[in-house]
Amino acid sequence: MTWHPWRRTFLTAGVEVVGFDPSTRTWVTGAARSQGMVDLPTLKGKVVTDPASRGEAADDFGHLVHHIPRAVLEPGADSDVMKMMAYCRTHGVRVAARGQGHATFGQGQVEDGLIIDMAPLNTVEVRKDTAVVGAGALWSSVAQATLAHNLTPAVFTDYLELSVGGTLSVGGIGGQTHRHGAQVDGVVELEVVTGEGSLRRCSADSRRDLFDAVLAGRGQCGIITKATVRLLPAPATVRHYLLSYPSVAALTADQRRVVNDGRFAYVEGELALPTESTGWSYQLEAVAFFDGTTPPDDARLLDGLGDQVSDRQIQDMSYFDFLDRLAAGVAYLKLTGEWYRPHPWWNMFLPASRTDAFVEATIKDLTETQVGASGVILLYPFPRARLQRPLLRVPDEETVFLFTLLRTASDGAESPQDMVEANRSLYLRAQAVGGYQYPVGSIPTTPEEWRTHYGPAWAAFAAARERYDPDAILTPGQGVFPPGP
Ligand SMILES: Cc1cc2nc3c(=O)[nH]c(=O)nc-3n(C[C@H](O)[C@H](O)[C@H](O)COP(=O)(O)OP(=O)(O)OC[C@H]3O[C@@H](n4cnc5c(N)ncnc54)[C@H](O)[C@@H]3O)c2cc1C
Repeated sequence: MTWHPWRRTFLTAGVEVVGFDPSTRTWVTGAARSQGMVDLPTLKGKVVTDPASRGEAADDFGHLVHHIPRAVLEPGADSDVMKMMAYCRTHGVRVAARGQGHATFGQGQVEDGLIIDMAPLNTVEVRKDTAVVGAGALWSSVAQATLAHNLTPAVFTDYLELSVGGTLSVGGIGGQTHRHGAQVDGVVELEVVTGEGSLRRCSADSRRDLFDAVLAGRGQCGIITKATVRLLPAPATVRHYLLSYPSVAALTADQRRVVNDGRFAYVEGELALPTESTGWSYQLEAVAFFDGTTPPDDARLLDGLGDQVSDRQIQDMSYFDFLDRLAAGVAYLKLTGEWYRPHPWWNMFLPASRTDAFVEATIKDLTETQVGASGVILLYPFPRARLQRPLLRVPDEETVFLFTLLRTASDGAESPQDMVEANRSLYLRAQAVGGYQYPVGSIPTTPEEWRTHYGPAWAAFAAARERYDPDAILTPGQGVFPPGP
């Protein structure tokens, strides 16, 4: 028996499954063989039904939705995913992949189904200018493995302990998106186990319909087992700039300016709630890469910006420390317990022309009780043209802003349910100004609304679903297509 800090429980050895009984729709474990049971295929890994494994798979970072699966596959090889997908299809069992479980609203859960824990499929093979990565690998491992060759993927999420398959299933947005698009735009080729139970390779040149339907495709057509990711030369060092502004409009004006002229390698921004002694704070976070010997030209990089010069914070750090900059804060949130509280997150893309007014109206009466003690409000832009994958839907304007209310239901804050309700009404308001959901948050959304969300991309998405998941067994927690079996 071992203590598991994340699950905060004792783990008993998994109760291994030997087959499925279609008549009772139960997984059969150990020696308790039943007459109508169909043996599992021979696997390199195993299928387990122990309460700890199922309990973990019935939870995520949101702690808002809990669907208990019947069993969990711990694959020993990609072929296990394929074999179990075919087996589940035959028996009408629904399936979802689980990366790191950092979805916030049950997107990766499946009541009575099979969860495939992708974590064991975590190989990283670095080639000349690409890395072939197991979908269960964490972006922190990918960074470490590629940096050993002075190479790096172009775009990282703010937090590195997310799985490659998990972020490629939604998009993967970060401060480098204004130059390089989302993480899905840096993928050259995928290996995917489709809902039919076949392992297929796809790329922009080969089986394009599957490639387009899987990247940012929220697990609706297949489970990514491997991704080939493009790499760039990595900088040794970065110079990090934190610039302060007196208003939303002043912040976004400079953000637009610097993403348009591309002077920085990374651009994000954050709004912080008033404290007892200060009002709202509006900060632009930017980074310039350098090789460690020739420092960036501050005068050129900061030329013409309208920030409050006396508040500038500038520091140099290693490239990996920059990528991993959230680690210390996350460790602190784990210590205080905030990390384990419900997270009813709201994430949307706004058209630039409506951003200032929408953000100002949203934060006007916002208080700490509505976002929680450790809530985070992000706001940053990128040119729409950088996004090339059809299923990552954003407003139809040249520049788009990501706006997020990353709420935590802290002690003394509103209840998680009230926060989810607030998310829903803010979603409707954002939609009315042309906003699109980034589907990682906790916003109740109907299949009809998803259909509208996908707009012109819907027909190809639905056709791919029909073709690659004909029995509709995949990833019901996303709620995109009407429920299957
Ligand atoms: C602290 C934190 C910081 C974040 N920062 C960012 C950020 O900066 N930028 C950003 O874009 N996002 C960010 N996110 C959101 C994050 O990218 C998504 O929630 C992502 O899906 C989580 O990855 P995961 O490995 O935990 O996936 P999971 O939560 O396990 O899965 C998410 C969805 O993807 C499906 N899925 C998982 N693996 C696969 C696979 N191999 N094939 C097919 N489908 C699969 C699951 O079934 C589920 O539907 C952040 C989330 C958290 C909690």
